[in-house]
Amino acid sequence: MSDTIFMKIINKEIPSDIIHEDDQCVAFRDVNPQAPVHFLVVPRKAIPRLQDLSPEDEPLIGHIHSVITLLADKEGIAEGYRVVANSGASAGQSVFHLHFHVLGGRPMHWPPG
Ligand code: AMP
Repeated sequence: MSDTIFMKIINKEIPSDIIHEDDQCVAFRDVNPQAPVHFLVVPRKAIPRLQDLSPEDEPLIGHIHSVITLLADKEGIAEGYRVVANSGASAGQSVFHLHFHVLGGRPMHWPPG
């Protein structure tokens, strides 16, 4: 199976605006931002969808959420932001490498549609 665009970003095969990386995950700005602050946090491990998680991934997902809180602070949105994971095509997922959208810097509306 060929690599997704996010695996190419993780492997630095294509450029991106990376704001964090560690041994488990990488965060970079969304190329088509939907809010003043919009970045994606992705595991280095190639998990296609949230629905494909297994019990062994639980520490990884906890780590990613800790990173999200640190980056929300760093990006100045800690007071209010939204975390979104689209799981599956019918939910709007277009890149099949698990990712968490983090959006902030403007009022968020509900329901998201
Ligand atoms: P989703 O529709 O939930 O799968 O989200 C995929 C997101 O990846 C979209 O918000 C895209 O704008 C974003 N995206 C696609 N290609 C890139 C890229 N090369 N660099 C940064 N973000 C990207």
